[in-house]
Amino acid sequence: MSNVNKLIILGSTGSIGKSTLEVIKHNNDNFNIICLTADSSSVVLAEQINFFKPKFAYLNNHLLIDDLKSRLTHNQTILITDIHQLHDLLKSDSYNTLVAAMSGSTGLLLTYIALQANKIVLLANKESLVMAGDLFSKYRKQIIPIDSEHNAIFQVIGYSDSEEINKITLTASGGPFRAYPRSKFEQITVEMALKHPNWSMGRKITIDSATMMNKCLEIIEAHYLFNLKSDQIDVLVHPESIIHSIVNYNDGSSLCQFSEPNMQIPISYALGYPNRINSGIGSFDLSTIENLNFSKIDHDKFPSINYAYEALNGSETSCLVINAANELAVNAFLEKQISFLSIFSIIEDSFRISQNTTGLSIEEILDADTLCRQKIKEIIKKYFIN
Ligand code: MG
Repeated sequence: MSNVNKLIILGSTGSIGKSTLEVIKHNNDNFNIICLTADSSSVVLAEQINFFKPKFAYLNNHLLIDDLKSRLTHNQTILITDIHQLHDLLKSDSYNTLVAAMSGSTGLLLTYIALQANKIVLLANKESLVMAGDLFSKYRKQIIPIDSEHNAIFQVIGYSDSEEINKITLTASGGPFRAYPRSKFEQITVEMALKHPNWSMGRKITIDSATMMNKCLEIIEAHYLFNLKSDQIDVLVHPESIIHSIVNYNDGSSLCQFSEPNMQIPISYALGYPNRINSGIGSFDLSTIENLNFSKIDHDKFPSINYAYEALNGSETSCLVINAANELAVNAFLEKQISFLSIFSIIEDSFRISQNTTGLSIEEILDADTLCRQKIKEIIKKYFIN
């Protein structure tokens, strides 16, 4: 890389944020960290500020600012305390690349501001793309996906809109309940759902893997990122999580990307693009593995996959609604207010809220999101365990 990349990392204390900083440690001369942001992890953010010495840092939870300050040994970092100051920074020339690594819908506006300011966005926050797909797809050539499946597709096709592509196949580990009988789904606890077999991730995405809602959101993500029709996007269960996705061409050939299931690999590809940089992870040795398994999804066990196709073929705000319903239902499940199976019921009940409006602005999308969340909260109450 010829130029030093100036980065803002949103969500630096989460799983993707930490992996991003780990890759940067291996490529220190190539990156200059302008700003780190966190929601409420003041302890981890303080460690990161002391080590990486960013110019700015932002902590969303104001109650923890004093705690953050008390932990700093590096005092040159300017602490931003107002979200509007963060907006101004995102519009400024002080950086060129945004890593959108926060979880859930909170990243939507911040990511959109960076796209409008003509920045490169390394996108791990799939929810923002699901919520505002039509709007974001106008900027899709500024986006490099970090999500491992989409990064795998991107490594094969880049930004080409090739008509030679027949379809893409997103692989799915199948989560912790792949081989679990449907009859026992009623007994699934939060602790069981938080144990993912292959990937170490945040709590929300780990539950999304257990319900396969993660794959539902990823189908929608792929549709907008790669400009593909919904019937060109397929899902295949691959429990070993070695092959991260497959591109199928018209002539019967398929190309795939494979590696250890470690997020530092897609992150390093996105950070270095179009070059390859040190990810800190070694090559995958095929001789160490006896079998790679593939199977179709059991749609009766995991109705979530069909929600993606329903949403993409449905009304304008369907994707926004299922994202909000899923986020709120997952929170309620983690709080032990509802059962695992109720997550599906709540999303299905929420479909009827979606509206057929087109060409929504970012403000209208945020308003529609707020409104539908109020309605979904009422739906969720019907599923409370007590
Ligand atoms: Mg993924």
